[in-house]
Amino acid sequence: MKIGIPRETDPFETRTPIVPKDIKVLVELGAEVSFEKSLGLAAGYSDKAYMDLGAKKISRAELFSNSTLLLCIGPPKIVEVSLMQSGTIYVGFLNPFDNVDLLKVLAAQEVSALSMEMIPRITRAQNLDALSSQASLAGYVSVIQAAFHLNRIFPMMTTPAGTIPPARVFVIGVGVAGLQAIATAKRLGARVEAFDTRPEVEEQVRSLGAKFLKVDLGKTESTDQGYAKSLNIEQMRLQQIFIEKVCHYSDVVITSAQIFGRKAPIIIKKHVLTGMRSGSVMVDLAVGTGGNIEGVVAGEIIEEHGVKIVGLENLPGLVPADSSRVYSSNIVNLVSVFWDEKANNFFLNREDEIIKACLVTHGGQVCLEQFKSKF
Ligand code: NAD
Repeated sequence: MKIGIPRETDPFETRTPIVPKDIKVLVELGAEVSFEKSLGLAAGYSDKAYMDLGAKKISRAELFSNSTLLLCIGPPKIVEVSLMQSGTIYVGFLNPFDNVDLLKVLAAQEVSALSMEMIPRITRAQNLDALSSQASLAGYVSVIQAAFHLNRIFPMMTTPAGTIPPARVFVIGVGVAGLQAIATAKRLGARVEAFDTRPEVEEQVRSLGAKFLKVDLGKTESTDQGYAKSLNIEQMRLQQIFIEKVCHYSDVVITSAQIFGRKAPIIIKKHVLTGMRSGSVMVDLAVGTGGNIEGVVAGEIIEEHGVKIVGLENLPGLVPADSSRVYSSNIVNLVSVFWDEKANNFFLNREDEIIKACLVTHGGQVCLEQFKSKF
């Protein structure tokens, strides 16, 4: 099987889908692996490192037209889909909820597209869960960004001039990214509080040495995959009032509240900023799905009423060596699980629950019910 690894085209993308050490794994499976020039340069990996482990450097157009399995981070450009052969398997974060036009083109070209965000949260698929591996790094980076932009230090410090109290950090949304944010802020010495609509995360928050803030919102629900469901209007109102109070005494607020497949809820309204301490910092980890902070600007750091709001997207891309390493492991694990040694190719087993959950287009059709309705 011919595996192709093109360079990501998003100008802000620094990650690479496969790191050199994993080329060896793919070659040992029996694949012929090709890559595009400068594939891992921004993440610190030279072309030579890929070639030394058995990959061949070819042009981008050749990669798209000759490969039968394309391993990527983001979605392909629509113009490049026309270069792919019918039956090519494309793997990457396709953002299928917002990319209906791309799904149509992939289906028309008879590409079998596997969407990494749709990998199911089952024990068997844990080491394929790229959404979680990238979210962990995003959580870490969010706190590093906050510490950099804050005009105070995080830990308590005793000096000859007296004691500096620790910074107060408030984490809203305690999923994978939120938990890493809590752990990182604790390691830096901050006093950390957290909130989530799923009360079951209280134990995890406490085990990291942070305080879980409770508010009675009535019944809140989760999906069978562990994702939160949206709050109703009254619950949102109660949450906003409670969160405003905590923001007013916090130095750093990190928001990561998301609803899978939907726009993120607005949790912090603009007026909250007027009561915050000048010099405090907010980092919105949900900016990619609309943001939790009203007025956040995707890709930018803005300042309003003396409060900095960090809306940078792709935080894992700020630590590309590690984020590429874990993404690459997820992808190579996926390939290994479905590798058919005898046929020497990736077996798209449509009976398997992992493939069933993440195969979005195949054989000229859109496969998943939730996207079919958008056509
Ligand atoms: P996510 O990115 O979808 O959401 C982040 C957090 O925001 C969630 O904890 C959610 O409850 C919270 N949230 C949503 N609306 C909110 C609101 N209005 N106010 C406050 N918080 C709000 O979540 P995620 O990081 O993908 O993880 C969701 C859960 O799934 C976690 O408990 C995680 O541990 C679990 N998980 C399980 C597996 C597995 O079983 N293999 C893998 C990964 C994650």
